Amino acid sequence: MSELHKFIFDGLPVRGSIVRLTDAWTDILARRDSNDNTGAWPAPVAELLGEMAAAGVLMQSNIKFNGALILQIFGHGPVKVAVAEVQHDLSLRATATVVGEVNGNARLSDMVNLGNKGRCAITLDPKDKFPGQQPYQGVVPLHGDHREKIEKLSEVLEHYMLQSEQLDTTLVLAADGKVAAGLLIQRLPMQGEGNLAGSLVSKANEDEIGLNEDYNRIAILAASLKREELLELDVDTILHRLFWEEKLLRFEPQTPRFACTCSRERVARMIRGLGQEEADSILAERGEIDVGCEFCGQQYRFDAVDAAQIFTSPDAQPPVSPTVQ
Ligand SMILES: [Zn+2]
Repeated sequence: MSELHKFIFDGLPVRGSIVRLTDAWTDILARRDSNDNTGAWPAPVAELLGEMAAAGVLMQSNIKFNGALILQIFGHGPVKVAVAEVQHDLSLRATATVVGEVNGNARLSDMVNLGNKGRCAITLDPKDKFPGQQPYQGVVPLHGDHREKIEKLSEVLEHYMLQSEQLDTTLVLAADGKVAAGLLIQRLPMQGEGNLAGSLVSKANEDEIGLNEDYNRIAILAASLKREELLELDVDTILHRLFWEEKLLRFEPQTPRFACTCSRERVARMIRGLGQEEADSILAERGEIDVGCEFCGQQYRFDAVDAAQIFTSPDAQPPVSPTVQ
């Protein structure tokens, strides 16, 4: 079963969380594998997506926010888009669109940042939006400050969290065909300070960056965690190996799981967003509008009668962007 464990270091301004996605991750892979239109992702793409899923769960669990946390890579390379979306209850879904070949030892920059133009976006989409409210979005490049290549997603996200929250963060991520896992260690914000939107960050907090000895010691221990250890060992063993000299206070574990938020109603809204003319032309050409969910593979079919209903239904809601499902 997939698990997320949160903990704090007793008496120290440091918190942590560790996630191990097993069934939640293999469910995502299995749906892709069984999709005749696409087939399985190349291994390096699956690894990247697994790391995104693990990171998304860690980041979602780290904030007090009722809505979806969406981690997206807009790639410049064969991976055009990769998305991991984690809801407040830690249900998650993920997908990637690959165009062209990804070779078996492709690194991050080969897949998503060929011309140094790839981007990573972190979006917080509130569950209950007031009219006109836009989701919060932060965007970071996939290269370093001096345009040097970065080959680890964890580095990109550490950089993002340092910028947006003004908090030192250490992230270790790993994924293979069975497990997607991650460890996050973060210096605790002072009371009422530091959040993902960065709106409450104080100067005092900023001045602490890199200087807290307790955090620095624990971060070095965390960074020593190897990929194989993270993938193969259970949570108790990992925490004991890394932090046996520290005093951890652990919270009740939570259970992330795969779930897709797609529905026939959402697809209908998307078709409405296309406009009647576009919908009619698809119907004329193919006899029906056939939309497959990129995340779970569910197929939604609308014939001419269904489509007519979409455009005449009295509860027709304002159109949404055709890219949102
Ligand atoms: Zn779906």
